[in-house]
Amino acid sequence: STSFRRLDMEKNMRNATNNAFSEFEVVYQPIVDVTRESNPCVGAEALIRWNSGELGLIAPTDFIPLAEYLGLINPIGAYVLEEACKRCKYWNDMGHPDYKVNVNLSVVQLLQNDIVKKIKGIIDEVGIEPGNLCLEVTESLAINDMVRMKRILSEIKALGVKVALDDFGTGYSSLNHIREMPLDIIKIDKCFIEHLGEDDFSDAFVKMVTELANTIGVHVCVEGVETDRQYAIIKKMGIYYIQGYFFDKPMCIESFEEKYI
Ligand code: C2E
Ligand code: MG
Ligand code: MG
Repeated sequence: STSFRRLDMEKNMRNATNNAFSEFEVVYQPIVDVTRESNPCVGAEALIRWNSGELGLIAPTDFIPLAEYLGLINPIGAYVLEEACKRCKYWNDMGHPDYKVNVNLSVVQLLQNDIVKKIKGIIDEVGIEPGNLCLEVTESLAINDMVRMKRILSEIKALGVKVALDDFGTGYSSLNHIREMPLDIIKIDKCFIEHLGEDDFSDAFVKMVTELANTIGVHVCVEGVETDRQYAIIKKMGIYYIQGYFFDKPMCIESFEEKYI
């Protein structure tokens, strides 16, 4: 039954991609800077949703690995990037010139030969300030080719775009990566936030990464902040960029703009 579901998903994903992406929706989760009093929102992370006509709502963690395997992440990711840039440009024009949008970039996208040209193309077409776009990349086995990865990320940064290392602390993390990669932001994975205040390792890990980041002039953002207690601990550690249900869940465009624009 698993392989039938996989085939089903593959067929539906190809159709959805060929069908003007109408089954896909981009939602936005605010990122806040807790040092800002009046409006702490500094932008949002764009997150994809797939509402398949045949299969129902499918979470990104369920379909992105297959999309990567099939290469469909390239057109889907390009769609998300363009939508997110357009939205952010609109927010910037509507009185929030500093709002940024974070977009997840799969390593499969990153390894396309013309990825830098593609990103530049979208930025130029939409007219977004490049510094208001932040691309989130994760460490993966592909990062074994650090020389290539560093070159690509440096070229992306040369466009003026920001780079964040997502889900830090999981997967193939290496402390050397945060020193070698040209990063602006490290996003500490939510699994370390979950047990903050009750698990010494989590506390020490978040503290250590924050200290390292401060030392090399990189910002820290924590994901998955849900409770008062987690929020209090994070604030006490001097971390100011926060993303989590404590503030808001990912929201449809209308809800996000109603609240934050
Ligand atoms: P991510 O990039 O680390 O995004 C953060 C995930 O954490 C989102 O899940 C978000 O809804 C969730 N989250 C945020 N705050 C909280 C919280 O307080 N508690 C809990 N339990 N969860 C929280 P989502 O939207 O399901 O996305 C999952 C992953 O799928 C993303 O993780 C990212 O790796 C991937 N993804 C989503 N959209 C895209 C996309 O457009 N392109 C690519 N390549 N990957 C995407
Ligand atoms: Mg992300
Ligand atoms: Mg993450």
